[in-house]
Amino acid sequence: MSAFNALIRAMLPVTPKPLIRFFARRYVAGATLTDAITTVQRLAREGCCATVDVLGESVARREHAETAVISYLEVLDAIASQRLPANISLKPTQMGLNIAAEFCRDNITRILEKASRLGVFVRVDMEDSPTTDATLALCRELAARFPGGLGVVLQARLRRTLADAAELAIRRVNVRLCKGIYLERRAIAYEERDIIRDAFVHALRILLEGECYVGIATHDEWLVSETLALVQRLGLKHDQYEFQMLLGVDPELRRILVGAGHRLRVYVPFGTHWYPYSVRRLRENPMIARAGLEAFLRGRVEP
Ligand SMILES: Cc1cc2nc3c(=O)[nH]c(=O)nc-3n(C[C@H](O)[C@H](O)[C@H](O)COP(=O)(O)OP(=O)(O)OC[C@H]3O[C@@H](n4cnc5c(N)ncnc54)[C@H](O)[C@@H]3O)c2cc1C
Repeated sequence: MSAFNALIRAMLPVTPKPLIRFFARRYVAGATLTDAITTVQRLAREGCCATVDVLGESVARREHAETAVISYLEVLDAIASQRLPANISLKPTQMGLNIAAEFCRDNITRILEKASRLGVFVRVDMEDSPTTDATLALCRELAARFPGGLGVVLQARLRRTLADAAELAIRRVNVRLCKGIYLERRAIAYEERDIIRDAFVHALRILLEGECYVGIATHDEWLVSETLALVQRLGLKHDQYEFQMLLGVDPELRRILVGAGHRLRVYVPFGTHWYPYSVRRLRENPMIARAGLEAFLRGRVEP
């Protein structure tokens, strides 16, 4: 990592919020549901489908989780009434996991009940490692109640992921596989990029050979090419897996994959709780902050 990137990462916690918002706006559809719908419609014209995420996490008060549930119910109505090619992604700690597991389960159940009535799929995002066991247990229980309606996420960087992939493959669970954005201790997670890449491919092979539907969530071209080789070796059709990418990241790769006939889903976050998500994205790619800062200093943009 360059010294400049390290400096930007170190500065993020003390960077004023308006500046973070300015640099991170490419990753967020906007503050309102209308912004999210407009973005999903634009992506649909490009041939992409979407997963809509109401920004928010780590809620400590029941009423905040309740507000998030209501927002998701509104998203579901919009997806169904406007026939958007979209599903939803939600975070357990946004649903109250840190308050009580049962409370969180009840909140997600409310969303799943409506989603299954409307035929919309629900993805439960994976957060940092203290939540992994509880999230997988919750998903196991809810997947049994809503077969085909709910999917989980595995993070390749976690040492436990191969075992989790094997267990999910037995039940043919719908899995999004990603590298994992949360910084974890070496005791439980790989730290080196090449090892994480290899672990990603191993987990992907287990899941695809187990006939799971996998959302391959990456912008890493090496992983894309490994995925394509694996898909070809297994003789999978285009509707047996999908690529997934984040809004604001590498639209050119997005177009290349769509142009080649692959299903591609874009993660479309929206809402007012944009700060933690944006900081994670900027920490992941300080070059964005660097380019924005240079443009700002040259007077080319206004925050
Ligand atoms: C749809 C989707 C859902 C996700 N859900 C989760 C989840 O539930 N839990 C979780 O822990 N993580 C999640 N992630 C994040 C994921 O774990 C990685 O942190 C992220 O995708 C970057 O890893 P990468 O495989 O793209 O490889 P990287 O090596 O990080 O990136 C490859 C290339 O992509 C580009 N790139 C990557 N990130 C950025 C960025 N922020 N800004 C600009 N360019 C960038 C760069 O050109 C980079 O060289 C999700 C990612 C996606 C795409």
